[in-house]
Amino acid sequence: MNKEFDIAIVGGGIVGAAVGFGLAKAKRRVIIIDGADHALRASRTNGGLIWVQNKGANFPVYQRITRQSAELWPALAAELQKLTGIDTEYRRSGGMIFCLSDKELEAGTTKAKRMAAVHPDYSFEACDRLRFEKMLPDIRLGPKVCGGLFSSMDGHVNPLFMLRALLTGFGLSGGKLVTGTKVKSVTPLEGGYRLTTDEFTVSAERVLVAAGNDARDFAETLDLPLTLVPQRGQLMVTERVAPVFPYASSGLRQHVTGTFQLGVTHEDVGRSVDVTSSGANYVAKRVLEFMPDLAKLRVVRQWAGLRVLTPDGVPIFDTSRSYPGIHFIACHSGVTLAAFHAGPFADWLAGGARGNPYSEFTGSRFDTGLAS
Ligand SMILES: Cc1cc2nc3c(=O)[nH]c(=O)nc-3n(C[C@H](O)[C@H](O)[C@H](O)COP(=O)(O)OP(=O)(O)OC[C@H]3O[C@@H](n4cnc5c(N)ncnc54)[C@H](O)[C@@H]3O)c2cc1C
Repeated sequence: MNKEFDIAIVGGGIVGAAVGFGLAKAKRRVIIIDGADHALRASRTNGGLIWVQNKGANFPVYQRITRQSAELWPALAAELQKLTGIDTEYRRSGGMIFCLSDKELEAGTTKAKRMAAVHPDYSFEACDRLRFEKMLPDIRLGPKVCGGLFSSMDGHVNPLFMLRALLTGFGLSGGKLVTGTKVKSVTPLEGGYRLTTDEFTVSAERVLVAAGNDARDFAETLDLPLTLVPQRGQLMVTERVAPVFPYASSGLRQHVTGTFQLGVTHEDVGRSVDVTSSGANYVAKRVLEFMPDLAKLRVVRQWAGLRVLTPDGVPIFDTSRSYPGIHFIACHSGVTLAAFHAGPFADWLAGGARGNPYSEFTGSRFDTGLAS
């Protein structure tokens, strides 16, 4: 029996949107069904970094797809702008890691060298304080900053514009987007699956579950090997000031609009997305060590989100153990990997998901003790 769609995607966060965009461009018939407004959405709370440094230090294939995605980002941003008119504010600015002691800098340098040994094109520079001062002529660095690491591989983007551009691009490429309704069940049909929401049902040959932390709702019924350890991150944003900090940085960046984004916490608090004064203190203390003059700026907003995190921090790309054609992704770093998801990953799905190029990313690595 002919199904209405080739692929139905459960979840329209940046992961579902990016893969959907790639599939729609490949002329697949795709529907994205995205849940209610109050749903946990990492995609609307993240820091917008396209971050390569240190990613996959113990997982070389993860490092490889992260690099690949960072390389594909300029073309994705340009394509989205041309197609949708939305400027995602993508900048391949390079990224800084600030170090507060020689020991920290030494450890960071050793780690970067180890990564460069695996992938010789992993580019980084170990910088002393003077070098950072020259790179940041309008910023007074904190007294403890002894330098740090810089890599031209990193960049940043406005994550909300990026999500809007991906979903708009998906629609303009022929994809169907339905928002404000949750998929309640996915049941097998001959040659495919039926997805049921409160309002309608649709049929699709294959399904991609990209429901972030809510993917766990499908783990049992669809037999997905899924282990998630959601982690809260709190960020803050200041009033606008003149542009002085062009680089991306782990936990600190200046938006195109001039606001400074400060963050971020790493908290194991179940599924709470509350903001706390202790979180604000932690973030403020940390960024003031790097740039003490940030203390003069008023903080205008604080928010929290839940990372879609696996125990080793590496994504899961997998299929159901019992239902062929049910795929799923659980992924922290969905901003960084968006160009990979919209590109090579979507192409692989569009081509029928033949072979298993992502076998090292299976969820069952947590069952076998292979995770590092
Ligand atoms: C504080 C913080 C900072 C971060 N910073 C960065 C960063 O700087 N760089 C980076 O690369 N990554 C960052 N991330 C990670 C990034 O935000 C996530 O990897 C990404 O948002 C995951 O996207 P997703 O689409 O899988 O999940 P989500 O954004 O959670 O989206 C899942 C979607 O699925 C929908 N859904 C759930 N259940 C159903 C259902 N039954 N039916 C239909 N729809 C459903 C929800 O409504 C939701 O829209 C950060 C995350 C956090 C929390």
